[in-house]
Amino acid sequence: MSGRLSCACAFALPLCLTTIAAAQAPQAPQPPRAPTRADILRGAYGPYRANNDLLSYDLKVRVDPEKKSISGRNTIRFRMLKDDTRIQLDLVANLNVEKILLGQAALKYERELGAVFVDFPETLRKNRVYSIDFYYSGNPTETGRFGGIAFRKDPSGHAWINTACQGVGASVWWPNKDQQLDEVENMRLSVEVPSDLVDVSNGRFLGKTDLGDGYTRYDWSIQYPINNYCVSLNIGNYVHFTDRLEEMTLDFYCLPENLEKARSQFAQAKSMIQAFQKYFGEYPFKKDGYKLIEAPYSGMEHQSAVTYGNHFANGYLERDWTGVGISTKFDFIIIHESAHEWWGNSVTAGDVCDEWIHEGWGTYAEAVYVEHMWGKDDALKYLNGYKTKVRNREPIITPCGVNRTPPQDMYFKGALFLNTLRSVVDNDARWWKLVRDAYGRFKYRNITTDDMVKFFNQHTGKNLTPLFDQYLRHAALPTLELQFADDGTVSYRWKADVKEFALPVKVGARANWQTIQPTTEWKTMKSAVKAEDFEVATDLYYVSVAKK
Ligand SMILES: [Zn+2]
Repeated sequence: MSGRLSCACAFALPLCLTTIAAAQAPQAPQPPRAPTRADILRGAYGPYRANNDLLSYDLKVRVDPEKKSISGRNTIRFRMLKDDTRIQLDLVANLNVEKILLGQAALKYERELGAVFVDFPETLRKNRVYSIDFYYSGNPTETGRFGGIAFRKDPSGHAWINTACQGVGASVWWPNKDQQLDEVENMRLSVEVPSDLVDVSNGRFLGKTDLGDGYTRYDWSIQYPINNYCVSLNIGNYVHFTDRLEEMTLDFYCLPENLEKARSQFAQAKSMIQAFQKYFGEYPFKKDGYKLIEAPYSGMEHQSAVTYGNHFANGYLERDWTGVGISTKFDFIIIHESAHEWWGNSVTAGDVCDEWIHEGWGTYAEAVYVEHMWGKDDALKYLNGYKTKVRNREPIITPCGVNRTPPQDMYFKGALFLNTLRSVVDNDARWWKLVRDAYGRFKYRNITTDDMVKFFNQHTGKNLTPLFDQYLRHAALPTLELQFADDGTVSYRWKADVKEFALPVKVGARANWQTIQPTTEWKTMKSAVKAEDFEVATDLYYVSVAKK
């Protein structure tokens, strides 16, 4: 997710970003612009957000394709964490607040940019549960890299309306507490659409009701915590087919003209789920099932309702994504976006500054899939193909609290960092146990990078903090400096921003690697390998090498 990208991939991004990365020459880093008031209102977990804990949303909307309008009501249940008289919700400024009710009583509110501060006539008490009804309406404008909410037509002229709002925020089309730290525990979604159209949303389909006025209501039940930006409408002339993976339901939706192509291409969902269940853990939203839904943009990880626009072809938008002949073996969008069910939707970064937890792991998961299907050599080749997309111009972790999307390095460098971490562990059985345990520890939680560092430190018995810091909190790669003397002595050290940086690395001859333990202080070794033949296993460790 980078503002520079123009495509819609929530990982969307990745895709997009990639395209741009390859095309751009390196530039000097730009100082980040100062956060605006709007950035702070969206990004900070301020006192009127922190004073409550979301329990549920019940969102009911009517979507009018002709008027390109939306109207409805979100019933928001929350528990107060302290006594207070105000809470912060969010709704983009160009949508109207009709009224906000506590029971029958209309509440006062104050709007500032995208924030809606709701005031209560009496103090809300700590530990009590409250429920308010937030009514709204208006004509949303398309915004952001995915459109936010887009009123389109499909090629046969039917209305095709899709939401995809990662980054710009769910409050571009419905009122909610628009941040990542606090998720509802469950959600109901009722969507009224003209009766010749279908709505496909997140969760379990409960049924549809003809309202008798030309509209039909589609009811969905989301039985798990969900990120706001994952809540999605997909309204169109959809056809539906189903499959199962053991007890789990798989539901597929596409335009009628693409049915045969979808039946063939969407079969990859099964091997994807099998791979990620093997390496990460059980599919996290089994009660809601897994859905794959055709959409007019490249794709997005909407929880239990992944959207797909990858032309029913392998690779990414019919290209060899990492350029090494592996990407063409599978459908990038099915694999990447669905990987977010584990990393992003189940394990969620509490602040967008730590979004590498979604995208670094999501990108690494592509290589996990490759390893599952075609073996470790192909996985390594695939991952190393990402190096051309890395910029190393700014840290992967951005300032927190200001809703600033991290640079695209969170995808590719994030994945290459995880591959480096695997090489530090240097034992595949231990690595996969760590990955599975990390997922198991953090599933259904909203976490920070520090939580993950702490986990890996505890479970490896190593101090990996300097390693995480160098790769995630600094722009430059660590460089292994090597100096060769005539007597076969090789001096070596890391040049890195983090003084305590230490990373064992395999060096010498590929057929007979020798593992050394460089730090930022010079050390020496003896090697029979000549300077010109002396190699570093840069496919296992994402590092630079400087020979002198
Ligand atoms: Zn992604």
